[in-house]
Amino acid sequence: MAQTHPDRHLGDAAREEAAAKLTRALNEAREVLDWWIAQERDWPPLGSGPQQVRLDESEPEPWPQREQDTVAPVDPITGLRAGDRVRAWPYDGDLLTVVETEMDVRDHSSWVRVAEQAQAIKSDRIRLAAFSCPTCGACAGPLVDDAEVRPCPDCLIDLRRLEKSPADAGRIRRAIEARATAGESEAESIGDGRFADRARERRRWAKRLITAKPDDLHMALLSAFGSAWERWGEKPADEYRR
Ligand SMILES: [Zn+2]
Repeated sequence: MAQTHPDRHLGDAAREEAAAKLTRALNEAREVLDWWIAQERDWPPLGSGPQQVRLDESEPEPWPQREQDTVAPVDPITGLRAGDRVRAWPYDGDLLTVVETEMDVRDHSSWVRVAEQAQAIKSDRIRLAAFSCPTCGACAGPLVDDAEVRPCPDCLIDLRRLEKSPADAGRIRRAIEARATAGESEAESIGDGRFADRARERRRWAKRLITAKPDDLHMALLSAFGSAWERWGEKPADEYRR
């Protein structure tokens, strides 16, 4: 690293670029080693060739501008979009399916239209249901076969904060750990083993990041939010429209 630091090659564009590439490669190699050690895995046998590992802390996914014609837009206030399943206050009734969200321009209140009811429901009386968040492990019942894996509304808000203010990363990491812990007990109470596994894994991930340096933490969080969004974005939304 001392030999390849870009500062040592200032003034020569080609050497500078090469040095930047090497530095990046060394940093990535160190991340892989750190991750491997943290996993307490056995070392791979020498000469066994490349091995695929998934690295949560790798380069963040670019935050994509989704094509509006393939995926329903996400309401910025509620974090909901068409097709989401929700429950209305007091949150123990049947699942409802979001058709669209709308804002009342007179008082800026937001409302959610669901397929099962003629009347729109005020958004503060709606909660996401039958889902599990791949970033923080938050989840909600009821137990269904086709529960959705999607970023929770809190994670969507956290991501917007993180993009504006990297200094919030520590606070956001703590909030994620708290949601993972809550998600674990929620998953156990609804009896969903997959949700419980995910929440546990996310809690361990958030804990591991306690020791990360500020830049690494910021990057790891962005990466986790980014890949959650990517997976969620794959879903075609048109099938839910009436
Ligand atoms: Zn979340």
